[in-house]
Amino acid sequence: MTDKLHKVKHIDEKFQGINRSGNEVLKEMRKQPWSRRGFLKGALIGAASFIAISALGHSLLRPGMTVADTLPGNGAVASPLPGKSRLILVFILDGLRPDSINADDTPNLFRLRQEGVNYVNGHSVFPTVTRVNAAAMATGNYPGTNGIVSNSMYVPEVNPTRSFSTGEYQDLLKLDEASGGRMISGKTLGERLQESGMQLAVVSSGSTGSALLLNPRAVNGVGVLVNGYFDPGKLVAFPADINQEILNRFGAAPSKGGESEQFNGAVDWTSEVLREFVIPEIKPDVVFNWITEPDNTQHNFGAGSPEALNTIRNDDRNIGLILEKLENLGLADKTNIFVVSDHGFGLDTFAVNVTQELINAGLKAGPNSDDVVVASSSQAILLHVKDRNPTRIKEVVKFLQNQEWSGVIFTAGKSQSSYRKDSSFSQRQNNRLPLDSRGSVEGSFSLELIHESNAERGPDILFTFPWSSDKNAFGVEGTDFTNTSGTTGPLTGNASGHGSMSPWNVRNTFFAWGVDFKRGVNINVPASNVDLTPTILALKGIKNDETLDGRVLLEGLKGGPDERQMRVKTRVFTTNANQGRYKAAIEVSEVENQRYIDKSWRIP
Ligand SMILES: [Zn+2]
Repeated sequence: MTDKLHKVKHIDEKFQGINRSGNEVLKEMRKQPWSRRGFLKGALIGAASFIAISALGHSLLRPGMTVADTLPGNGAVASPLPGKSRLILVFILDGLRPDSINADDTPNLFRLRQEGVNYVNGHSVFPTVTRVNAAAMATGNYPGTNGIVSNSMYVPEVNPTRSFSTGEYQDLLKLDEASGGRMISGKTLGERLQESGMQLAVVSSGSTGSALLLNPRAVNGVGVLVNGYFDPGKLVAFPADINQEILNRFGAAPSKGGESEQFNGAVDWTSEVLREFVIPEIKPDVVFNWITEPDNTQHNFGAGSPEALNTIRNDDRNIGLILEKLENLGLADKTNIFVVSDHGFGLDTFAVNVTQELINAGLKAGPNSDDVVVASSSQAILLHVKDRNPTRIKEVVKFLQNQEWSGVIFTAGKSQSSYRKDSSFSQRQNNRLPLDSRGSVEGSFSLELIHESNAERGPDILFTFPWSSDKNAFGVEGTDFTNTSGTTGPLTGNASGHGSMSPWNVRNTFFAWGVDFKRGVNINVPASNVDLTPTILALKGIKNDETLDGRVLLEGLKGGPDERQMRVKTRVFTTNANQGRYKAAIEVSEVENQRYIDKSWRIP
């Protein structure tokens, strides 16, 4: 830890050592004043610069304009990278829909979104579940590349007959052991930062599994990882000296209680550790702060419920306290902030016991048989067929196409044998540039198209359920079907979930605010959770030795391109089977080499 503090100090000195040329003073004006005092200081520098600007023929500074806004050719003067922030702080609010943010319930988030760059076309990574998105954020790579393909995964070396939940960190460590240290394939953000003498701190009130996936190598000494629930009261952080320090100063994290309880206590404890210890004393370069609500409460009570609103207000209050702390530490104008959610949310209106349905259809021998293994992401289902048997795969797909409750189906690509034991490189190329949008079975799309092809852990069949834009009891749009261990049939009540490819689950909260970002703009160009790591690395001036699946969100940065001049190619693919009795569509949007999965649906 002492070494780390020295390292941080060294970097601080580098920042202070920047020669403040006239250009720098102008650049300084790009920083938006945070406090009233900061604003006055900014105004004074502004007055001095105003004379210089006038000499260039610009006689008026309109209210709200910065000097930089008036520079001739602004945007083409200098590359926006690397950025100027000391700290990059990523708030991830589990399950927060963008339509939950407003001035009354979430004044802090509302202000940041108004003042910053609002990506109105944000994307959760499909399957739109927690751990898939945690892994995508931590790597900048899609599931097919990083190997975390679902919330529950089937890996025979871990359990030969059933899938396991990725929510428990011990199970992930088993996976790590079973796969030769590759719980996640490829380098993580934490490792890339460490190689450049920088540090990632993950501070999470979520499940121990989702926490570990944000910094998987923390157990091997990479960066910092805080979660109050690894072994409550005993193990709450990696590395060991930081664990001890947190326990000494903050005690055990409060118990989360039953599922119907709000996890505000967990959020408060975690937020305090971040605010009073991690940011001021560990001084990390990048922070992922995972906030476990409103996910838990929305699952039980629905999006827009009074209970969910209560947890969202508490999240916002905690974020407000952290913003205040940044100001007190003099970090407010040296920080970039991202606010994202891992996925949206929708009301569950129908439940399907997929395992039982397959058994009833004679396609699976029993609940624990390994002929067809079900791995659930609730509103999206992965099926693993023994030996990837093509005949059985075809039979299962035909069965699904005849069910009213099935949605869109994905199998290995038609024009490529995706399950050769490819090197990870060609595997990635397959996901990135699929040769064919069609799956190998008639009426299905390819797994490569949706970045779910993985030689070791990828499914043989992946399917969704039907969704709608109907409203729940609180007027919030979006419904879906979900997997159950109970009886297949309609659901009543407010219980809700996610995982599907409906726009209500794909569309996540995604905005950015800070020293390197444009001010007060909406951006329609798509962005995704998988774009976070590439953008963070670019802002920190770290070059990649290889290309990541995600892209750098340049259009959001000061000096970056005008989003209206960027090429976004949106396409809809369709497929059919059964002489047209089964039809489905998928919409994808492409920016550069990045392919965003917008939505898919079964055509009536
Ligand atoms: Zn989640």
